[in-house]
Amino acid sequence: MFKIAIIGAGLSGLTAAHQLRHVAQVMLFDKSRGVGGRMSTRYAGDYEFDHGAQYFTARDPRFQNAVEAAIEQGVVAPWQGRAVYKKDGEMTADTGGDRFVGTPRMNSWPKAMAEGLGISLGARVSKLKRDNKKWTLAFEDGQEEGGFDYIICAVPSVQAIDLLPNEFSCMAALKATKMEACFALMVGWVGHHDFGWDTLRVNNDVNAWLAVNSAKPNRNESVTTLMVHAAPDWSNEHAEADRAWVQAQMEASASALCSIDVSKAPHLSLHRWLYASVSKSPEQGTLYDPALGLAACGDWCLGGRVEGAYLSGLAAAEAVSLRL
Ligand SMILES: Cc1cc2nc3c(=O)[nH]c(=O)nc-3n(C[C@H](O)[C@H](O)[C@H](O)COP(=O)(O)OP(=O)(O)OC[C@H]3O[C@@H](n4cnc5c(N)ncnc54)[C@H](O)[C@@H]3O)c2cc1C
Repeated sequence: MFKIAIIGAGLSGLTAAHQLRHVAQVMLFDKSRGVGGRMSTRYAGDYEFDHGAQYFTARDPRFQNAVEAAIEQGVVAPWQGRAVYKKDGEMTADTGGDRFVGTPRMNSWPKAMAEGLGISLGARVSKLKRDNKKWTLAFEDGQEEGGFDYIICAVPSVQAIDLLPNEFSCMAALKATKMEACFALMVGWVGHHDFGWDTLRVNNDVNAWLAVNSAKPNRNESVTTLMVHAAPDWSNEHAEADRAWVQAQMEASASALCSIDVSKAPHLSLHRWLYASVSKSPEQGTLYDPALGLAACGDWCLGGRVEGAYLSGLAAAEAVSLRL
C-alpha cells in the first residue's frame, strides 16, 4: 500500500483521510492537542465556547449528504436560533440557508471523524524532505517520520507556504491567497440571559458577530455563554495591539449591542486567530503537484468556511487517489 501523510487534522485533513483510508496507509499529524482545527471548542469550568466556526451551511449535495450522516450519528444538529442583522442601526431578520452546528460541541463532528484514524497529536511539522521519491516529515522536536509516497498539506495557506518546497508547481496560486485575522472574545455568566436574539450580525462596528453559544442545541443551559468576533478589517489592523486594549474595545462594543455591561461578566477571555477567514482564494478544490506527490487543501481553496474545507479535502483525496 502507498503511504500518505496528511498534515493538519481539521475538517479538510480528516475528510481526505476518510476518503483514502481503505486504499492507502494514511497517517495524520497535527500540532494541536486535539483534532478539529478551527472547528474548535474552548473549555473554562462550566463554560464552553465554540470560539472558531460558529455554524455552517450546506449547499453542495456531497456536503449535504455528509451533514445528514453526521446528524444521524448525533454529532451535528440544525440550529434554529433567532438570527438578527443590525445594519446602520436597523435590526432585520438575518436570513440565509439552514444553519447547522456540532453537538454537543462544534468539535464533536471532527472528533467522530477521527475515530479509527492514525493520528499523531502535538506533532508540529517544521520541514518536508524528499529523497529517492519518498517524503520525510521533520518535526519541531527533532523527530522524523519517513517513507511517504504522497503528502497532503491541509493547513491554512499561509502556513502551507512555509512548509511546502519552492519547487511546488502551485506555489504562485498558494501565495496569491489571503486570509484574515479574527479576535474572539468569550463571555460567560451564571444563569440565563436573553438578549432578544441568539445571533447578531453587525456592520460598521468593532465587532461583526455575536452569538449565544449556550443557545445552540444540547448545550449547558445553566450558564449563558456569549461569543463575540471582531470584524476582519479591525482584527487585521490591531492584530499586534496590546491584548488588554483589544479586549476593552470589544467589551465596550458588545456592551452597547447587548445592553449589559459585558466587562462585569464572571468569565472573560480573548483569543486571537491569525488565519480565521479567507478573502482571496484560488477557487480550485485542491492545489496538486503530481510530479512531487504533493497536494495542498483547506477551506482557503474554496473561499473559506466549513463546507469549503470539506469539499477541498474531498478534492485532495480524489487527486491523490487517481495516481495510486
Ligand atoms: C473565528 C472563526 C469563525 C468562523 N466562523 C465560521 C462560520 O460561522 N461558518 C463557517 O462555515 N466557517 C467558519 N469559520 C471557518 C471554519 O472554521 C474553517 O473554514 C474550517 O474549520 C477550516 O478547516 P481546515 O481543515 O481547512 O483548516 P483548520 O481547521 O485550520 O485545520 C488545520 C489544522 O492544521 C494544523 N496545523 C497547522 N500547521 C501545522 C503544522 N506545521 N504541523 C502540524 N499541524 C499543523 C492546525 O493545528 C489545524 O488543526 C470560522 C473560523 C474562525 C477562526
